Amino acid sequence: MSEQIFTFKTIVIGPAAVGKSSLIRRFVENQFSLHYKFTIGVDFMSKVVDYEIGKSAKLTLWDIGGQERFKVLRRSFYEGTNGAIVVFDLSRAGTFSKMKEWLSDVRQAIEIDFPALIVGNKSDLIPEIGIVIDRNEIEQYSKKENTIYIETSAKTGDNVEKAFLELTQRMVQRCI
Ligand code: GDP
Ligand code: MG
Repeated sequence: MSEQIFTFKTIVIGPAAVGKSSLIRRFVENQFSLHYKFTIGVDFMSKVVDYEIGKSAKLTLWDIGGQERFKVLRRSFYEGTNGAIVVFDLSRAGTFSKMKEWLSDVRQAIEIDFPALIVGNKSDLIPEIGIVIDRNEIEQYSKKENTIYIETSAKTGDNVEKAFLELTQRMVQRCI
């Protein structure tokens, strides 16, 4: 067994129904359900990530759930964050601009700079419904915000592990 050094609080935020809970579930349990289950309160899960050969870190994953709507509750949720995954839905254009508000909200709330990853989820729907958000615009925004942009599908599992791994590696870099 490898020595476990770091524990990182990782928050998963963004508008409702973009797939935050589904991404966590796919990552932790490798499962997916199309049946929408509204997250009540805050959900916690954790997973140990091997971010390098022989090196692992524990992520505690904070699922914002029902607090999406209650701005006043967000601050306590954000406390102690080491990294953020900010999610929007590639099939609903409006979620991209809402996601931007989430990122600026969390950046305002946390004094210390932390790595963030922008996730465009539900990439499996693109062949069906087409591209509804300009990728250049997403890339430009991501660059400006000094984040990484990744497209995922919690449904197929595509890029999910990669997204969490990329963020873990950036969180580790802050500590060494
Ligand atoms: P949350 O409110 O952000 O936590 O969103 P959920 O994880 O509860 O997902 C909202 C809905 O979108 C559910 O019906 C999911 O099954 C569905 N969903 C989540 N991720 C994906 C995905 O990658 N592809 C597709 N097609 N549906 C997804
Ligand atoms: Mg949820």
